[in-house]
Amino acid sequence: MGEFDLIARHFKRPAVALNPAVDLGIGDDCALLRPSPGIQLAVSTDMLVAGRHFFEDVDPHALGHKALAVNLSDLAASGARPLAFTLAMSLPEANDAWLTAFSKGLFELADAHGCSLMGGDTTRGPLNICITVFGEVPTGLALLRSGAQAGDDIYVSGTLGDARLALEVMLSVRGHGHGHGQAGQMQAPHVPPAVLAQARARLERPTPRVGLGLALRGIANAALDVSDGLAGDLPHILQASGVGASVNVDAALDLIAAKRHHAWPAAGFDVVFSAQDRQRWVLSGGDDYELLFTASPSQQAAVQAAAQSAGVPVTRIGRIEAQAGLRWVDQQGQPCDIEARSFDHFSAPGP
Ligand code: ADP
Ligand code: MG
Repeated sequence: MGEFDLIARHFKRPAVALNPAVDLGIGDDCALLRPSPGIQLAVSTDMLVAGRHFFEDVDPHALGHKALAVNLSDLAASGARPLAFTLAMSLPEANDAWLTAFSKGLFELADAHGCSLMGGDTTRGPLNICITVFGEVPTGLALLRSGAQAGDDIYVSGTLGDARLALEVMLSVRGHGHGHGQAGQMQAPHVPPAVLAQARARLERPTPRVGLGLALRGIANAALDVSDGLAGDLPHILQASGVGASVNVDAALDLIAAKRHHAWPAAGFDVVFSAQDRQRWVLSGGDDYELLFTASPSQQAAVQAAAQSAGVPVTRIGRIEAQAGLRWVDQQGQPCDIEARSFDHFSAPGP
């Protein structure tokens, strides 16, 4: 199978199936995208490298999903509506079954968001997938990192920490990534299979919060998507906005779904995992792809209505303050000494 056969077979689709903003898709030197009047194009790129961002033997259907999901998550964080994307990939070989599953996972998510593949590049080389997404947002309405105001509430969507839990359990089963076992056949020693399956789904098939991002336009003052962990990502908003924050660490730590899973026997999560594990996963985990955003307290009802319309819960975890820095506090607002400053040192292990 040559390069052009590969593209025609796995990636090219009929023009009628494309987002109407795509005037010309795959096949020419450039694709043509027609932005509507009064909108700004939102553009973001993410690269996924085998052995660094995913296991080389990961299910290709899941990989197709995730490669696009992490990009759509950036559009979500900007409050942009997805239009189209390009796909640049290097592949060790043209494996038809692998490409069929990969493109299926990719297009299922793309179609769910009306986001069309409009071009790309394909070469031979180590497995590497780079997607650039294009979205649209009415001029001036994009959610930025720089808009947080002192007094804002800080919210997180969905759950945090489960993807990292899954990664660490999978790494331990594989002997820290040097093994070449089939990911699909692994069994974690102490975690009920249903709990691990749920956590793995978060790692391998993250849900980009596109609907929530759209619903938060005009309501949120600042937003980003949590890809490197709460403790690492919230400071991006604080620095860009020139503010600080107090975060209720207990509210944040409650956001890990694995703890609440009904498949645990009576003793459950806290017996198998230490408090430090939980802190590491929730606060500095990564791969969550939830939205972290701030909004004025006057918008509390509007935030909840946006969450409801998007079908994802949001939890208030703290408050933006004028004083610079990130402060972790307990339920009573008392400072918590949880070595938050050292979270930087938990560098995420590669698979
Ligand atoms: P050029 O050499 O002019 O850059 P290519 O021969 O690389 O063009 O690609 C031919 C066409 O196929 C182009 O329209 C390009 O956008 C598209 N294409 C190549 N690889 C991919 C891919 N992985 N996914 C989608 N479109 C692709
Ligand atoms: Mg080329």
